[in-house]
Amino acid sequence: MSRLMIIGCGGVASVAIAKVCQNDEVFDELLIASRTVSKCDAIKEKLQGQTKTKITTAQIDADDVEALTALIREYAPDAVLNVALPYQDLTIMDACLAAGVDYIDTANYEPEDTDDPAWREIYEKRCKELGFSAYFDYSWQWNYQERFKEAGLTALLGSGFDPGVTSVFAAYAKKHYFDTIDTIDILDCNGGDHGYAFATNFNPEINLREVSAPGSYMENGKWVEVPAMSIHREYDFEGVGKKDMYLLHHEEIEALGRNMPEVKRIRFFMTFGQSYLDHMRCLEDVGMLSTTPVNYNGQEIVPIQFLKALLPDPASLGPRTVGKTNIGCIFTGMKDGKKRSIYIYNVCDHQECYKEVGSQAISYTTGVPAMIGAMLVATGQWKNPGVYTTDEFDPDPYMEALNRWGLPWKVEENPALVE
Ligand code: NDP
Repeated sequence: MSRLMIIGCGGVASVAIAKVCQNDEVFDELLIASRTVSKCDAIKEKLQGQTKTKITTAQIDADDVEALTALIREYAPDAVLNVALPYQDLTIMDACLAAGVDYIDTANYEPEDTDDPAWREIYEKRCKELGFSAYFDYSWQWNYQERFKEAGLTALLGSGFDPGVTSVFAAYAKKHYFDTIDTIDILDCNGGDHGYAFATNFNPEINLREVSAPGSYMENGKWVEVPAMSIHREYDFEGVGKKDMYLLHHEEIEALGRNMPEVKRIRFFMTFGQSYLDHMRCLEDVGMLSTTPVNYNGQEIVPIQFLKALLPDPASLGPRTVGKTNIGCIFTGMKDGKKRSIYIYNVCDHQECYKEVGSQAISYTTGVPAMIGAMLVATGQWKNPGVYTTDEFDPDPYMEALNRWGLPWKVEENPALVE
């Protein structure tokens, strides 16, 4: 039996919480702590009575390490699942270290204020040394390796779908299907339609920062950076059909590139419709994606945060989104002296997710793996002092849990490859 603390109470958290409560044989106690406690109370109200998990709630500002450490100490959970924002990763890791508790998240650290001179200095050095310019990277959290090791604590980074499941797929392919993997193409297809001309499926600020950044991929251990949306391919996805997809920088490329150095090329593609791209380009051209505050009528406004306030709340997309997602990885390589290629993927239906937990598939495909990562760490199945990504543990229990908890996967031999 495990006691879990979840930080954050947005789209992804609401699915992770619903799944924790379904898995009440493992999670007998749950604390939901977030900035707006009324959201935690509303979820508690909805779920208690349907689960044996004892739910409590608390208000917390996860940027405040002292207050957070005190709350973690008081509740004494087996693990803390961070499904707040990537901005809080480091403060929550600090609090977990101080309180002596394992840590799990779904997205790697990026700063809220990208104009902070101390952060910028390190960022610009990294851009030059490594050759990619995304605002997020693993170095900040990998820096905690020794501290977590010495404390005997596990930090599991990026246990969402991508990153998360995609890296587990890579570990599974390596363990069961290949002697050597030569290439990995991660394909993230959302064939869902919410009926709006423009909306984002998860936190708009994080989402728009990610997709408006230059694209990059790894070739022979080196980053190759290209202008945003400049590499385009079409792919025929099961359950969705033909879709345009674009090469993006994505965090699992960095972790897989480090942990599987024998892989010669790692790329990430995401599908976008023309309307999304047109809106994004226009918003970028007029400065609405900027994170630098502007003064408007005597008030400081951060354009991308103001835009977030105008866009539909991702949590409200559930009832109106129809269609499917298809996310997976194509691997090529060698097995027993012969060339081999496989595609491991999951197809998820937006409306099925909504019927089950009241959320669309993007939150669902992130919240389920977040619960699974928390379960494997809290029950000691994935326990190793230090800071690790999901490709660094035995993939088998995670793959079994995906089938059991709502994200069944398939393996296709000889799939169509991406040029
Ligand atoms: P939301 O914006 O819907 O939710 C974020 C939640 O965190 C909100 O409840 C918010 O509080 C809370 N929060 C924000 N700041 C603080 C703070 N300082 N202290 C306490 N709570 C805080 O985001 P999503 O649910 O869409 O995303 C959650 C995470 O999942 C993000 O890190 C995102 O990058 C990641 N993600 C990962 C994916 C993957 O596949 N790996 C895919 C999609 C998302 P309030 O309610 O007051 O706003």
